[in-house]
Amino acid sequence: METTTNKKQQQETQKPSIYSLELHELREWLAEAGEKTFRAEQIYDWLYKQRVTSFEDMSNLSKDLRRKLEESYSITTLNTLIQQTSSDGTIKFLFELHDGFSIETVLMRHEYGNSICVTTQVGCRIGCTFCASTLGGLKRNLQAGEIVAQVVKVQKALDETDERVSSVVIMGIGEPFDNYDEMLSFLKIINDDKALNIGARHITVSTSGIVPKIYKFADEQMQINFAISLHAPNNEIRSSLMPINRAYKLPDLMEAVKYYIEKTGRRISFEYGLFGGVNDQVEHAEELARLIKGLKCHVNLIPVNYVPERNYVRTPREQIFEFEKTLKNAGVNVTIRREQGHDIDAACGQLRAKERKEETR
Ligand code: SF4
Repeated sequence: METTTNKKQQQETQKPSIYSLELHELREWLAEAGEKTFRAEQIYDWLYKQRVTSFEDMSNLSKDLRRKLEESYSITTLNTLIQQTSSDGTIKFLFELHDGFSIETVLMRHEYGNSICVTTQVGCRIGCTFCASTLGGLKRNLQAGEIVAQVVKVQKALDETDERVSSVVIMGIGEPFDNYDEMLSFLKIINDDKALNIGARHITVSTSGIVPKIYKFADEQMQINFAISLHAPNNEIRSSLMPINRAYKLPDLMEAVKYYIEKTGRRISFEYGLFGGVNDQVEHAEELARLIKGLKCHVNLIPVNYVPERNYVRTPREQIFEFEKTLKNAGVNVTIRREQGHDIDAACGQLRAKERKEETR
């Protein structure tokens, strides 16, 4: 077991992750280093197709270039602390970063392929009252390369059975828009056909509602899927569940959503967690239908399990269907999310909160 001092020294001497570099940035670095820029494609091939973990293995590069890479960058590797497998095939990983902090990554098996849910921050400062990820607050942002490394690591595990990561959701620990630039680089790198080649339509990013960043993201014009964690049909309930609603109120959020839809022409998803006795009555469904009326959108209902650190209880089954029916009758496009990993610590941040108490209190 490494001491805290060792970890701290390691952190201070840690070189930037090469996975953080978009292809044009790698070309720029090569040009500055006096190397041919076409080497960037070769390096990408080693990183993302061969998935090597050492510059030494990049055998078609000169020794001199390998040395320069070694001196300037690291190839981020994540240490697997825990790996939990659910009876439905969902695998939850608790990974350790170079500085000793931990993050969660989840692999979900669907009929249409393998999807992974990545973390963008160590902890989170948003403070949603139902979420274990925010316990202990925000420790630090992840570099783009540390987010990319989660996909590479899971892909390497899937290589053994000749499978691939076919879609990525950015809904793990952290608020992606609170680490905007790194998240954006991450999106560009995994989408690049010379890197992991994950199609834009197979990538989903979700935000709790940082309004100015929604406008900014709309202007990026990326063809990826976009979701808003809504969870409430009105200001009052939303503020009680999500403190961010006090900074960016529901009417302002809905204006930003309208702008996003108009600007991109894309449909938006609203995530709506059902919390027993809080937001799960028929009148809430009616109010929600009025709130989103006329918007090009889809609602994902998420029956929330009991959260040990909080006092929320699960909505009874019949009531979940009643809520769905009310929305459908009002013309809303709605689905109930299939539960995955219910027999492991599936909710975001639960595994980390349980295993890494020193980080999450
Ligand atoms: S739900 Fe997301 S934004 Fe809210 S506290 Fe949890 S990780 Fe942060």
